[in-house]
Amino acid sequence: MATDAAGYDYVIVGAGSAGCVLADRLTASGRYRVLLLEAGGTDRRLFVQMPLGYGKLFHDPAVNWCYRTEPDPGLAGQADHWPRGKLLGGSSSINAMVWIRGHSSDYDDWQAAGNPGWGWADVLPAYRALEDWEGGADEFRGAGGPLHVSANRRDLHPLTHAYLGACAEAGLPGTPDFNGAQQEGAGVYQLSVKGGRRMSAARAFLRPAMRRANLTVRTHAHATRVVFEGRRAVGVEYRHKGALQLARAGREVILSGGAVNTPQLLMLSGVGPGADLAAFGLPVLLDNANVGGNLCDHQGLNYTWRMKTRTLNEVLRPWWGKALVGARWLLTGRGPLSMSINQGGGFFRTDPGLPRPNMQLYMQAFSTLLPRAGERPILTPDPFPGLSLGLSNCRPTSRGRISLHSADPFAAPRITANAYATEADVAEMLAAVKMLRRIAAQPPLADLIAEELRPGPAVSSDAELIADFRARSGTVYHASCSARMGPDAADSVVDARLRVHGLAGLRVCDASAFPTLIGGNTNAPSILMGWKGAQMILEDAG
Ligand SMILES: Cc1cc2nc3c(=O)[nH]c(=O)nc-3n(C[C@H](O)[C@H](O)[C@H](O)COP(=O)(O)OP(=O)(O)OC[C@H]3O[C@@H](n4cnc5c(N)ncnc54)[C@H](O)[C@@H]3O)c2cc1C
Repeated sequence: MATDAAGYDYVIVGAGSAGCVLADRLTASGRYRVLLLEAGGTDRRLFVQMPLGYGKLFHDPAVNWCYRTEPDPGLAGQADHWPRGKLLGGSSSINAMVWIRGHSSDYDDWQAAGNPGWGWADVLPAYRALEDWEGGADEFRGAGGPLHVSANRRDLHPLTHAYLGACAEAGLPGTPDFNGAQQEGAGVYQLSVKGGRRMSAARAFLRPAMRRANLTVRTHAHATRVVFEGRRAVGVEYRHKGALQLARAGREVILSGGAVNTPQLLMLSGVGPGADLAAFGLPVLLDNANVGGNLCDHQGLNYTWRMKTRTLNEVLRPWWGKALVGARWLLTGRGPLSMSINQGGGFFRTDPGLPRPNMQLYMQAFSTLLPRAGERPILTPDPFPGLSLGLSNCRPTSRGRISLHSADPFAAPRITANAYATEADVAEMLAAVKMLRRIAAQPPLADLIAEELRPGPAVSSDAELIADFRARSGTVYHASCSARMGPDAADSVVDARLRVHGLAGLRVCDASAFPTLIGGNTNAPSILMGWKGAQMILEDAG
């Protein structure tokens, strides 16, 4: 194995949402030499840069790990498709760009679980510093930071306003800013988009940092193992251009491979459930059953209606419609291709007695009931006017696990999602799907609806609704907590400074370190991990 001759202070594995921020923050002072290893390639691709292009990336192995879960009893025995970004920017380069921090109390929960420095009062300044919010700075929002957040007010489809009106009639009034004073309510999703192009973590943080001489970014470099001397991490073994290499880290190794790959890499390196590792012939350096455990994810599904009015289906489906919106996007950076398919959103409580919203809404002025092989047909929707209202749960109580299928570092890990494994998760989703129909039954939306297509009016009893959502739900791509933070190695993997319990020179900094899943989408909190993680690493460097 060749050893990288350059001496690095920090080696980061994974150029995703968190890894790009780390690479930027750790190199900004010029004091430290940093190597960033990324298994995938460049983000300079049309369908990465074009916001709505993400439908094309959903099954594309050139930019996506394309994982499959084990058959899941909670999803009527189906194996779910789990896309994960495999390129610069990681999942922030293939995601739906909805910008949500989560509920302020989520962070107070993190702190209350024994993680000082992660309460709302601690993370709010970080969120304000890292963002460039189109609406301008106030006590909640920041302006002038590296990551532009669009208010997404231009070019909204008219159905979005009908949806907001119907939500108000259904008892869910509007909220002006999901990331501001009040998350609860219906509103328009803010997007990580600028000038009609995706604002990934690579664009916001990594690309500017790549101009620095003290940052080396190696793409198509797949980390296979963390290398230890005793219990100190001293480097990373990786495969690049067909050969195994060793990069030594004088100070620390930081794992930012995401909630699926980070626990896999820990296990391949001898850190994880001892008996499982031994069964695969791996040496056990540190026995900790929490590596890969506590896996959390949001589950969701759509209800779909045929509409009496024009939707994005008629715009995006015909070739001439594609040509028109394509030309508009190229010439002006505007129109449907410059946005997420999720224009309207919301957060609501399924029980007024709950202290905070426990369900998230997604409104899409289009539908994709007709499947297309190997593609999520966002750019080729149904041949009739359609509306989709989607849901996902905020804090599911079901837990899954990432484990190994084999000791081969290039084999996919085993993902056991365990969706809807608890009664509480089923009861909550049952109450929530009823809310979708309540919204659709209100004016002005109700006046525009021709008929419910899926699941359809025949599905009406509680048992039928449950069977339907088990059969049609799936991940909304927010896997997290699989190497979670906590004060005690008995039920966590890293401490509040993201250091792996029981080892030196090794941190985890990505969505796998979330102590619990937040109520909202997970890109912003993953970027927060990178931001706060870098602050801690620099403080600890002295
Ligand atoms: C299809 C999709 C839609 C989504 N939509 C939204 C949304 O609208 N809003 C939102 O907030 N969130 C969304 N998310 C979720 C969000 O993007 C992720 O939670 C977040 O990006 C995770 O960040 P991360 O840093 O933990 O990991 P990632 O961003 O996934 O980065 C991990 C990186 O590590 C690399 N890597 C992994 N293993 C290795 C290895 N062994 N060697 C070298 N490199 C490695 C990967 O290739 C990847 O680039 C979506 C996700 C997906 C997949």
